[in-house]
Amino acid sequence: MSKKEFAEFKGQLETLRIKIADGLSHIERDNLNRSQKDASGDLSGYSFHMADMATDNFDRDFSLGIASSEQDLLNRIDEALQKIKEGTFGVCEQCEKAITMKRLKAVPYTKMCIKCQEEEEKNKKRLQG
Ligand SMILES: [Zn+2]
Repeated sequence: MSKKEFAEFKGQLETLRIKIADGLSHIERDNLNRSQKDASGDLSGYSFHMADMATDNFDRDFSLGIASSEQDLLNRIDEALQKIKEGTFGVCEQCEKAITMKRLKAVPYTKMCIKCQEEEEKNKKRLQG
């Protein structure tokens, strides 16, 4: 891979990272605001408040679920950026062969070539099935 291509992927990953990190901070802020509202809750509507809390908790778990997969994505992007620094970006972690340019352009934070990825997904299905 040429230096120019490395630089292009680096730029792409950094842009993606900022976008995701920004989305993540929105989710966190939203959760914080809601917790503070709960703490200063109006006691006159207490019985209703209990019901509200149940849905609130559900929403919170739901958005935390999103946050954790976004966090996974951030970790993968960081790993890819680290690999660019080390010069090992674009190499499959499984078979150590080069990942195709087409695949890297579609998923720049991928760790595996398409063959190994397919193999892993097959294994996963076998385990679940
Ligand atoms: Zn591979």
